[in-house]
Amino acid sequence: MPSLLRRAAAAYNVPRLCCLKNIPAIERSHAMRIENDPKLDFKDVLIRPKRSTMPSRSLVNIERSFRFIHGAEEWKGFPLIAANMDVTGTIAMARALHTHRAMVALHKYYPVERLVEFFRSEASVDTFFTIGVGEVDMEKLSAVKAEVPVRKICIDVANGYTERFVAAIRRVREENPGALIMAGNVVTGDMTEALILAGADIVKVGIGPGSVCTTRKMTGVGYPQLSAVIECSDAAHGLKGWVCADGGCTVPGDISKAYGGGADFVMLGGMLAGHDECEGEIVYTEKDGVKVPKAMVFYGMSSDTAMNKHAGGVASYRASEGKTVEVPYRGAVEHTMQDIMGGVRSMMTYIGATTLKEVSKRTTFVMVGSQLNTVFGG
Ligand code: 5GP
Repeated sequence: MPSLLRRAAAAYNVPRLCCLKNIPAIERSHAMRIENDPKLDFKDVLIRPKRSTMPSRSLVNIERSFRFIHGAEEWKGFPLIAANMDVTGTIAMARALHTHRAMVALHKYYPVERLVEFFRSEASVDTFFTIGVGEVDMEKLSAVKAEVPVRKICIDVANGYTERFVAAIRRVREENPGALIMAGNVVTGDMTEALILAGADIVKVGIGPGSVCTTRKMTGVGYPQLSAVIECSDAAHGLKGWVCADGGCTVPGDISKAYGGGADFVMLGGMLAGHDECEGEIVYTEKDGVKVPKAMVFYGMSSDTAMNKHAGGVASYRASEGKTVEVPYRGAVEHTMQDIMGGVRSMMTYIGATTLKEVSKRTTFVMVGSQLNTVFGG
């Protein structure tokens, strides 16, 4: 089959290359091609256990310390970040995750006054200030910075492959030389390097894997998330940069696989939705005559719901690339965090890693046809 595909690709390329011979080389190099080496998602692999002397999972350390290539301060903690979606990237989530030394990328929709008040009164709580590439966002960052220091900035766009995005990173780096800058999203090594060279300390990796993302369906564009993490982290580490695996984690084991694949940080949306610390609309049901929370509305930041809420509707030139769902209401995020941290610790004992930093070195993935016994459900 692969050779068939290769022949098909070759057959397709010949006439295209001939008729493209008068246009610049960069265009010609973009003629259609097929990559035959397997690209993996979390569901395609398991982590092979390894012999070790470790007596208990309580002895492993899930914190890591990082120095950053562009001069930001050192950071130490559990490298997990709540996504800058307006349901999960909240101030309440930041406070809750701070107790575990994890972080939140705040959503873009807090007013300047609220952000200034928060950064001023709780400067120890680890959060990223999120911006896009628009002038409004840049002005908002300047307005907040005029009042309080902003030490961590997340520059977030759906498509990190544009010159405009690279220029925005360069500008934010120039204007914030000492800040920790995380930027994305991309899924390939070449662009990971470009973002780091432009000024990013951490590159956010993931196009299309998200729980409420429909980019792959709407555009056909994407990259299996585990392979994206493996390839981007390899590129980033070569430049002393870091990557954050963003999207596609559905269970604690996926977070372990992301670290195993080389992710330095992991970003979660859907796994943190449905909790008390979220800013989502709660759906109630009645139990014994009492109104109780049943679910929470959760949506992609490119969904109709988000665009209607924040941009006054979906612009005529674009399609929605996110969906709106109801996730079960799950109470305090503390229980979910305990599950996540317990899962990561347990993975570390299975492979004999005492520190999170060792995990990728001690990881061997095995490709699998199935993962779970679902006879009694998922
Ligand atoms: P999750 O952890 O829910 O699988 O993925 C969260 C990530 O999905 C976010 O951090 C963000 O990168 C991505 N995302 C959020 N909303 C949308 C959307 O509407 N469309 C797309 N394509 N991706 C989204």
